[in-house]
Amino acid sequence: MPIHHRRSVRDELLDDVYASTDLSTAIPKFKFPENQHDPRHVYSLLHDELMLDGNSRQNLATFCTTWLEPEVHQLMAECVDKNMIDKDEYPQTAEIESRCVHMLADLWHAPDGASTLGCSTTGSSEAAMLGGMALKWRWRDKRRAEGKPTDRPNLICGPVQICWHKFCRYWDIEIREVPLEKGRLLMTADEAVARCDENTIGVVPTLGLTFTGQYEPVKAISDALDRLQKETGLDIPIHVDAASGAFLAPFVLPDYEWDFRLPRVKSINASGHKFGLAPLGVGWVVWRDPADLPEDLIFRVNYLGGDMPTFALNFSRPGGEIVCQYYNFLRLGREGYREVQEACYENAQAVARDIAAMGPFEIIHDGGTFGLPVVCWTLKDDAAVNFSLYDYADKLRTRGWLVPAYSMPANREDLVVQRILVRHGFSRDLGDLLLEDMKRTLEHFEGHPVATPLTQDEAGGYDHSGR
Ligand SMILES: *Cc1c(COP(=O)(O)O)cnc(C)c1O
Repeated sequence: MPIHHRRSVRDELLDDVYASTDLSTAIPKFKFPENQHDPRHVYSLLHDELMLDGNSRQNLATFCTTWLEPEVHQLMAECVDKNMIDKDEYPQTAEIESRCVHMLADLWHAPDGASTLGCSTTGSSEAAMLGGMALKWRWRDKRRAEGKPTDRPNLICGPVQICWHKFCRYWDIEIREVPLEKGRLLMTADEAVARCDENTIGVVPTLGLTFTGQYEPVKAISDALDRLQKETGLDIPIHVDAASGAFLAPFVLPDYEWDFRLPRVKSINASGHKFGLAPLGVGWVVWRDPADLPEDLIFRVNYLGGDMPTFALNFSRPGGEIVCQYYNFLRLGREGYREVQEACYENAQAVARDIAAMGPFEIIHDGGTFGLPVVCWTLKDDAAVNFSLYDYADKLRTRGWLVPAYSMPANREDLVVQRILVRHGFSRDLGDLLLEDMKRTLEHFEGHPVATPLTQDEAGGYDHSGR
């Protein structure tokens, strides 16, 4: 027992954190530490290091929640020990998850709330995997029943979030991503249908593209697939990636049909931790009908003498995010969500007007309600400027603003855009502070022309990915 290492309790209580040997010498960073340290010292050390992470409220690149009510912080602390997979030990957390699924099925107009199937996930990425697997399994079952080959499945989408590239690679599916062209930065119905064949497991429109914030036309795609079925017999299902839009459109565009009101929409995923306003770590996937989720994907576990179906990639997972999602549903209701989201749209549109008025920028999405509360712009073709949007993003970062610049996917890699997300917690005053910095940055470049504008590779770090 190396007693000599121990100091008296009195010494430790009198310690000044920064005068302690823990903080006045460098701590080991990559070798597993030998000794114990005072919790206050270690806390201070970590607290200080995290200051360098930047300020999430000024991170206008992220779609994720960065402002939460004090009650949410409190509930998260109370739920720190709740494992949502342990439905036996924490039956009320399981019950709350199930209530959330039913509320979402209701919000998205599922035909019969009672037979709804769905679950929470860690986010839209896991939800997309589950939705995509159900598409693949259903297609394969149908093909097998017809005695046809099942070795070449494909999936059709527009400029999707990276999770669909992952899904297709991990599950061995050909991704047919509609290429973009001048004047069309999304998947249209014609472009989707033109790529469909007997090996198509589904079409995945995005309600709120990560690149621009625009909505892909789910209803037009669904109508076109109805016509395709009439003409050819091909019956191709739709899964909607509504990571952001599923918590916006139902409140600000209640009559806009993108969800289970369209019979061809078989499943929907959404990120609770984006416009669902829950803390980080929760997403949702809901199927229209139990028939749309093949039985052999579901694992059945016994709990409390009952039968609990589970479908997930993860096992243990924290329950707090689910509890706080439910808190938000109860706390805000349709009325509250509408007010919160309308405020985001109003602020986004005000910011878009001011950015347009600055001169060199052309607005691609102006925070209009047929899309996300996102402002997306590019440099005008004839803008007489001596900087790239990568320079502009780089300079704004000196004031703490993260305003990502990135190029569009194929075939518009030539188009470089910049984007801000207007989320809960973004006030008009905060917007004005951003706009002042944007104007000041333009003036800076006028006085100090950039000799060699930054390229995407040199700028690094930024992308569209919807983090
Ligand atoms: C954010 C996003 C995803 C990924 O969702 P996570 O919740 O971050 O896993 C997928 N699709 C779209 C359209 C997104 O915006």
